[in-house]
Amino acid sequence: MGKRILLHVCCGPCSTSSVERLLQEGYEPVLFFSDSNIFPYEEFMKRYENLLIVARHYGLQVILDEWNHEKWLEAVRGHEKDKEHGERCSLCFHFNLARTAEKARELGIDEFTTTLTVSRFKNSRKIFSEGADFEGFREFDFKKKDGFNRSIILSKELGLYRQAWCGCEFSRREADAT
Ligand code: SF4
Repeated sequence: MGKRILLHVCCGPCSTSSVERLLQEGYEPVLFFSDSNIFPYEEFMKRYENLLIVARHYGLQVILDEWNHEKWLEAVRGHEKDKEHGERCSLCFHFNLARTAEKARELGIDEFTTTLTVSRFKNSRKIFSEGADFEGFREFDFKKKDGFNRSIILSKELGLYRQAWCGCEFSRREADAT
């Protein structure tokens, strides 16, 4: 096995092509499901259960972080009405990457990254700029090398649930309104 890297995972579908790429690049990803932004709790658990399918498929370890939506709401306070991709999302990336950096330190894993860059709807530069605040963050733009399309193909093959909104209640409302 290759060098361990802690992979922050936002959902099962985005983890598929990210894991595939890290394995191709010689890493051994440890999956960290840390997504207090997801609401409600049932949706958080549904996305986690999907990740377990991916982990079993690739034979990888998964670590489940606590769901602390109240703390996440505090972190984005004042930005509830922001449009998706605005400042609330940058604060959200920062929140989850801070927890991942802390977990990597605790586990003695030198490098970490995130599946958030798979989505073609998310600006990878914004994610990298939040990650740069933490030692050990590695820039992987997983949507590159056809990563987004590959995640759709792999998700179909594994029969994964693909949600129609990003994760928080504010993104749900925005998606429902369109
Ligand atoms: S829309 Fe997505 S990235 Fe933005 S704050 Fe909500 S959960 Fe986080």
